[in-house]
Amino acid sequence: MKNIILFGAPGVGKGTQASLLAEKFDLIHLSTGEMLRHEVAEGTPLGLRVKDIMNRGDLVGDDIVVGLIAKALDSGRNQLLDEWDELRLRRACGLGPDDPLPEQPQPSIIYDGFPRTVQQCQMLEFLFQKKNRRLDRVISIDVPQEELVRRIHERAQISNRSDDNEAVIRHRLEEYEAKTRPVLDYYKVSGRLVSVDGSGEITETNTRLCRILQHLLEQ
Ligand code: ADP
Repeated sequence: MKNIILFGAPGVGKGTQASLLAEKFDLIHLSTGEMLRHEVAEGTPLGLRVKDIMNRGDLVGDDIVVGLIAKALDSGRNQLLDEWDELRLRRACGLGPDDPLPEQPQPSIIYDGFPRTVQQCQMLEFLFQKKNRRLDRVISIDVPQEELVRRIHERAQISNRSDDNEAVIRHRLEEYEAKTRPVLDYYKVSGRLVSVDGSGEITETNTRLCRILQHLLEQ
């Protein structure tokens, strides 16, 4: 039941890599960006509150995203079984075919796009204390700024995301520099931060990440 944060600027490929890792290592993938887009698409009260904020490229309030993460961590057996088949759940929890399934299975989780402010880091720590979880590793994917801008523009050609346009992309990168980059310093002192070069092909970065996860999940 490890907790791994995948960290990086918009465009580094966190979402793609987190999905690949979740599939390979049977992890639960929690993406605050995806959760928020889902709320917007469903037109929920929360979705209506955050829609314009996201379209501007601003960060959504800390309470809102931490609330979404808390809800996901609380989600019990049924929701996890909905997302997963039972076999994967058993494997991820280290249970044999005849072992009883716990009410609250605690598989390993990869966090994508969260935490994004120092305040969110502090709130996550508090949440972990309450839920008997601990942070195992923060993996930062590093990509030079020019390459980031190029990738987001490329993605904008094919994505339906309303926040993938020139002015908003620039603003998302500014938000990252001002509010999210300090998260790195926050975790640097804890000794749990590792950095991975993400400037190459998806498969190259994935190989580097798999090596780190393999080692971590065997511990
Ligand atoms: P990106 O690829 O730009 O990193 P995400 O899908 O992670 O995109 O996030 C999209 C938008 O959702 C962000 O620009 C922000 O408005 C909102 N968002 C996602 N995660 C968070 C978070 N942890 N804190 C605040 N806002 C968030």
